[in-house]
Amino acid sequence: MIKKAYLLSPGPTPVPPSVLAAAAEPIIHHRTEEFSGIFMEVTEGLKTIFGTREDVYILTASGTGAMEAAVANLCSPGDRVLTINAGKFGERWSRICRAYGVAARDIVLDWGKVLPKESLEAELEAVPDVKAVFATLSETSAGQVFDIKGFGEVVARTQAVLVVDGISGLGAAPCPMDEWNIDVLIAGSQKSLMIPPGLSFIAASPKAWAFIESSKCPKFYFDLKKARQSLASRTSPWSPAISLIVQQKKALEIILAPGLDKLIAHHHVLAEATRAGVRALGLELLAERPGDILTAVRTPSGIDGKTLVKTMQTKYLAYIAGAQDPHKGEFFRIAHLGYMGGFDVITALTALEMTLADLGFAIVPGTSIQAAEPILKENWS
Ligand SMILES: *Cc1c(COP(=O)(O)O)cnc(C)c1O
Repeated sequence: MIKKAYLLSPGPTPVPPSVLAAAAEPIIHHRTEEFSGIFMEVTEGLKTIFGTREDVYILTASGTGAMEAAVANLCSPGDRVLTINAGKFGERWSRICRAYGVAARDIVLDWGKVLPKESLEAELEAVPDVKAVFATLSETSAGQVFDIKGFGEVVARTQAVLVVDGISGLGAAPCPMDEWNIDVLIAGSQKSLMIPPGLSFIAASPKAWAFIESSKCPKFYFDLKKARQSLASRTSPWSPAISLIVQQKKALEIILAPGLDKLIAHHHVLAEATRAGVRALGLELLAERPGDILTAVRTPSGIDGKTLVKTMQTKYLAYIAGAQDPHKGEFFRIAHLGYMGGFDVITALTALEMTLADLGFAIVPGTSIQAAEPILKENWS
């Protein structure tokens, strides 16, 4: 057959054709009124995505760059912070904090679990002088979505700031920054925001800005005070990733024409259909509170999880994601994130069924489709 590949991973995600084409436009100079107009339009669009009145800064870096910027700009060496670690990305908060000499106390949970807000409240009472809580909206390594609204209620009553990695979740799960008392919120370009990897976005509340003013961690490229100064002149401190920003403008037009609520609702339908499909095959989900970003599915017993992912990728060119270390092979992840439609769910489920059959797992072809298709049909919009 013709080799047609299907990107079904939780980052990078597929990019709409008009957004791909925007990258091929001639480069314009970034110190011009024309570029400033584009830059400010993207900044404004991101404020809507973030649900904030604060400014959103555009960083030339993948999502991890904005995570690093959050730590370096808020903290000073020796500060006491909490990280919520129930997967690879929660763990990344801890590792970045340690790299900057910040005293992270990690609340470690099994992958896929969520932390009740009451437990966070108890931690905050038990540990004195916590300066920041580092949390994740959607833990992409395991598929769960945390109760960020609850965390916001709890943290707002303390002197600490709540920092949320919304890199995969923003745009696919509700997370209004101002309404939920989030102090620092982060997004990345290659997840629900429908452009290639390379940009990350960060906004900070007045409470966070007070910490930024007094932070003593070293920083230069990601200095948010410089970003704030430049934004006042409608630009960025360093050469911006011009083409990516032009692409982001196009993608935001696509996202914001129907509205953010529609995008979130769309992700919910795709997720419901995917979950119904895998359950119909008798498979189990990993996440305690599955998000609508991706579905992490436990590898059925008797099947080698790494072979499953490899077969889907190399034989069927269906690029789902495997589990990351130290859980390689134990589960796999099907994304329904960003520029994906209902038939992408069908593609993923069909490829999964065919792969399972290849590996000797007894299934009746079409079982997952019978469960998923009605959900897509009834909610098609
Ligand atoms: C993708 C992702 C990251 C890392 O982003 P990079 O763009 O790979 O640097 C961080 N956190 C979450 C939740 C993610 O999904």
